[in-house]
Amino acid sequence: MSKIGIIGGTFNPIHNGHTLLALYCKEKLNLDKVIFIPTYTPPHKSDKDLESEVHRLNMCNIAVQNYPDFSVSDIEIKRKGKSYTYETLTSLKEIYPNDTLYFITGADMFLTLEKWKNPEIIFDKAVIAAVPRNLSDSEMLNSHYQNFLKPLGAKACILDEPVLSVSSTFIRENIDNYDLIKSLIDRNVYEYIVKNNLYRE
Ligand code: ATP
Ligand code: MG
Repeated sequence: MSKIGIIGGTFNPIHNGHTLLALYCKEKLNLDKVIFIPTYTPPHKSDKDLESEVHRLNMCNIAVQNYPDFSVSDIEIKRKGKSYTYETLTSLKEIYPNDTLYFITGADMFLTLEKWKNPEIIFDKAVIAAVPRNLSDSEMLNSHYQNFLKPLGAKACILDEPVLSVSSTFIRENIDNYDLIKSLIDRNVYEYIVKNNLYRE
């Protein structure tokens, strides 16, 4: 019986907030490993600024290469079409029937989970781990769980500290200012972005 963390996202691009989120949950929840799952076409986002799934997958693989307990799955990319978390968790539970899945989310995702497709299936397949994205999120996470997610059958671990205040949006908007973003993104991921001319008009 292992404990497996799952982080879904567009990872457009993957940044240190994502890797720290995985490290923090791994330590706090005693996870054996964490799997990053980049989306194919995200249901919650418009396609503007979204780099191809191949680039996003490659950047995830570069970012995890020094973390032996982290891996990247192309399950959603291979499935094509819209990526639905309930489908992904159903497939993963078939692959890992005896393990406990922890679906790791930042606060923004956690606060909309009841509106995702088939939330009951998500809550049946995985424990939800939620991490604040800034200091003011913590209280909201707890009340959202009590009021909206628990009544739908969710089991959740709400961690109380943010990891790093950064978003892929901030990275994209400041892609030419390496000094500003260098502590927020893996150096090899940044080099990949430059080499492939990503996030430029
Ligand atoms: P964007 O600005 O494009 O929305 P993002 O930084 O939010 O990008 P996503 O790929 O949308 O990255 O997020 C994937 C998952 O990681 C989500 O659950 C999100 O809440 C979480 N996450 C992203 N950045 C952080 C962070 N700095 N701290 C905690 N969780 C984060
Ligand atoms: Mg986001």
